[in-house]
Amino acid sequence: MMNFEEMGFTPGILKAVQELGFEQPMPVQERVIPLMLGEDRDIIALAQTGTGKTAAFGLPLVQMTDTELNATQALILCPTRELCMQITGDLTDYARYTGKLRILAVYGGASIDNQIRELKKGVHIIVATPGRLIDLIGRKAARLSAVTTVILDEADEMLNMGFLDSINEILEEVPAGRRTLLFSATMSTEIAGIAKRYMSDPNEITIGTKNASAENVTHGYYLVHAKDKYKVLKRIADSEPDIYGIVFCRTRKETQEIASKLIEDGYNADALHGDLSQAQRDTVMQKFRVRNLQLLIATDVAARGLDVDDLTHIINYNLPDDNEVYTHRSGRTGRAGKKGISISLINVRDRHNLKQIERIVKKPFKAIQIPSGSEICGKQLFHWIKKLETVVTEHQEIEKFLPEITEKLSGLDREELLRRVVSLQFDRFLDDYRSGEEIISPLDRDDNFKGSDRKGARKEYSGNYKRLFINLGKTDGFYPEQLIELVNKNTQGKKVPLGKIDLLKTFSFFEVEAEFADYLIEALNNSKFNDRRVAVEIAQEKPEGFRESDRSEKRHAKWSDRKPDRKRDGRKKDSVKPLRWEKKSGKKDKKKKSW
Ligand code: AMP
Repeated sequence: MMNFEEMGFTPGILKAVQELGFEQPMPVQERVIPLMLGEDRDIIALAQTGTGKTAAFGLPLVQMTDTELNATQALILCPTRELCMQITGDLTDYARYTGKLRILAVYGGASIDNQIRELKKGVHIIVATPGRLIDLIGRKAARLSAVTTVILDEADEMLNMGFLDSINEILEEVPAGRRTLLFSATMSTEIAGIAKRYMSDPNEITIGTKNASAENVTHGYYLVHAKDKYKVLKRIADSEPDIYGIVFCRTRKETQEIASKLIEDGYNADALHGDLSQAQRDTVMQKFRVRNLQLLIATDVAARGLDVDDLTHIINYNLPDDNEVYTHRSGRTGRAGKKGISISLINVRDRHNLKQIERIVKKPFKAIQIPSGSEICGKQLFHWIKKLETVVTEHQEIEKFLPEITEKLSGLDREELLRRVVSLQFDRFLDDYRSGEEIISPLDRDDNFKGSDRKGARKEYSGNYKRLFINLGKTDGFYPEQLIELVNKNTQGKKVPLGKIDLLKTFSFFEVEAEFADYLIEALNNSKFNDRRVAVEIAQEKPEGFRESDRSEKRHAKWSDRKPDRKRDGRKKDSVKPLRWEKKSGKKDKKKKSW
């Protein structure tokens, strides 16, 4: 494998490369750089974003540009303003030690007068979106007569965005003797058309498999009822405290709705869609880029301009209408050698589409289980504990109060103190999952997509549920987890699909797949829960004492409580209660008493 030192770069470029922390060339760089520096042929490179292609063309380009010559020598065309700025920023980094190289980004949506002024000063490399460049050519501000290198970056995206005519028009302006490089994630007939028309005997390079998504991306899906989608989205976010991802929705309206709900529920999220002004979109993208936002809810079109590495998750709230779009979405994670996951929330009807997408990305999609409330609580708790372990505590202000604080808390031993701190931090959060029902997938939990085609291999349930009454409630320490345990314990491992669970103080209701109702009633009746005899029966239509409003009122209160501080970590808690889910350890009763 060749390293950067062996590639023929000047010391100035090598120094910049080193400062950027690039140790080894990435595959696209290994292939493109020697060709660019050593030969004069056109190049077609099929490479996904995130493969290091900017440096592949950018480093040689910076080295080859003559800063003594006051003329535009290179033109880079790219689809969006974002990418335009990104490339310009990257090239500026590469040119840190290479004399006075002038690079200018020209794109729509910004003042054209400023761009004209800058162009008049003389620019060595123009990085442009096609529409704006045509404007500038028309005004005689951009002069391309001395251009020797043209780079078409993300050519497939430019064509998707309808820039074919503009590209043709621009290329007609550039001297015929130039060298042309074309970068694209996919090879389509239109791309081949451009290559045929404007390139001569190009070197064709393919990085990875053509049309296949990045190596480092795994693909998974949750099979969910449409009504549960939002809840599942929250669970994904809750079970990944460090999540940094884009949630793709189909419409602007849906994008806004999901984002608003998430914000109301206290997540670091915001919307990015075409109904926002350019200034609003810029603000959102900037917040996301600096990780002020963890979740960006976006439409495909709006997210095009956003180029962020390090994304941990791509979430397809809906599968895209066009299966190819899936590859663009998932290719936004797993970049720069990092791992990423692309998750799709699908319903039974989407499974056919998913199969087709599986074929396109050439990777199997894994069915993922919806995380249970207690799994999520555990993850959140340990995430917080990790923070606690590493927190810096050198605050003078705290020192001052420490003696008094120590004195006040002297009656509490270490374990007790910890329990209280954790309760305070997590009470409301745990409460969410403690009283919330588990989400049931439309099919058997360990459904595997691959197997779902085998007739009779798995039982598909009717989706009809019966509502049962049980004589246990929250004051008995009876929560979804306990219900599920009770059912499992008394059904000898037989899978009994449960539906919605409504917990009340002293009794509860839960749904069970209709065909299991009689069996379950018999199995549970006369069983014991904490020495109490369990009684289960078919629920009456309007059970005495049951108010549907109980839960919704309570939830509402919780949401509005969350609003002021938005971030989970900063949420204020006002009550101290024992952690119910610690019950598993068998210490429940003791703890309860101590409170
Ligand atoms: P790109 O495909 O050009 O958007 O590059 C993706 C990411 O890879 C960017 O964050 C680059 O800074 C980074 N990168 C490019 N080349 C290298 C390299 N040789 N080693 C490590 N990171 C790199």
